[in-house]
Amino acid sequence: MSIVDRFVSLYAPHLCVGCGREGRPLCRSCGDLLPAMEPSCYGCGSTRRGWRTCHDCKPAKPLTAVMCLTSYSGPAKRLLAGLKFQRAMAAADDVAALMARRFGEGIAPDVLIMPVPTATSRVRARGYDQSVLIAKSLARQTEGIFAPLLERSGHSEQKTADRLQRQQQLQNAYSLKRHADIRGKRILLVDDVLTTGATLDVVGAMLKRDGALVVGAMVFARVE
Ligand SMILES: [Zn+2]
Ligand SMILES: [Zn+2]
Repeated sequence: MSIVDRFVSLYAPHLCVGCGREGRPLCRSCGDLLPAMEPSCYGCGSTRRGWRTCHDCKPAKPLTAVMCLTSYSGPAKRLLAGLKFQRAMAAADDVAALMARRFGEGIAPDVLIMPVPTATSRVRARGYDQSVLIAKSLARQTEGIFAPLLERSGHSEQKTADRLQRQQQLQNAYSLKRHADIRGKRILLVDDVLTTGATLDVVGAMLKRDGALVVGAMVFARVE
């Protein structure tokens, strides 16, 4: 983006993706109108209070709970799609505010709020990482600690890879930053969109291997 573009987008008014009113990318009332999802286990989809992973899925699933705010459709989809840099920051604040309102009470002061990094090629193209912006803003609006301790390798994914190769690429894509000590820590992963949950499983298993006490996740929109 050119300097002029950045300057313009900084001062251009935000229009709400829900009602079109000037002010925020997602105004408070439209945020509250986003349909809540039925709390469920991220492994099998069965209804579960507090988004906890069910007993059947627990042995194979590293995350204790995965909370999803809304489905990836309507205003939520529009909010995440095609954002420009300055708008992305304001939109991340709105997403985080909504997460804090709906789920924030459970975030204790010792919880590490950790963004799941987006593919580096996509970050380079956009100039920002949406999940980092959301996690940072969520930490500001709750008691948790912003902890960007995950790294994503720069290798681009091969489109022709088969299922096994894709799984292998995913396994190798994430690592913990050098000197990051997460032993005994409670970690809340933050991402903008949830599809299969494969990424959360890979990252969650790695964090548990490295000594994390509990790993959960909070996601803005789930693809159904
Ligand atoms: Zn609105
Ligand atoms: Zn389950």
